[in-house]
Amino acid sequence: MLQILVDEDKCIGCGNCYDICPKAAKIWKIGSVAHILDLRYCHVCTLCAMECPVDCIKIIRPGEKA
Ligand code: SF4
Ligand code: SF4
Repeated sequence: MLQILVDEDKCIGCGNCYDICPKAAKIWKIGSVAHILDLRYCHVCTLCAMECPVDCIKIIRPGEKA
């Protein structure tokens, strides 16, 4: 199963992941840190991870180990 993990100790809540994500409102909720709401809409473009300034998003594709 696809997983996107946010390291909450590193996340600064900047919202870059939300801003770049094509399905942002369905997938991301930004508070003091970023939360994933629903990954059914994610097409694994990895833009969120590329735009994260503190490199705290880890994308684990189905079949990959965390
Ligand atoms: S991989 Fe792409 S579609 Fe999935 S959450 Fe990140 S930016 Fe959004
Ligand atoms: S881009 Fe990274 S630091 Fe910014 S809110 Fe998203 S996960 Fe947090």
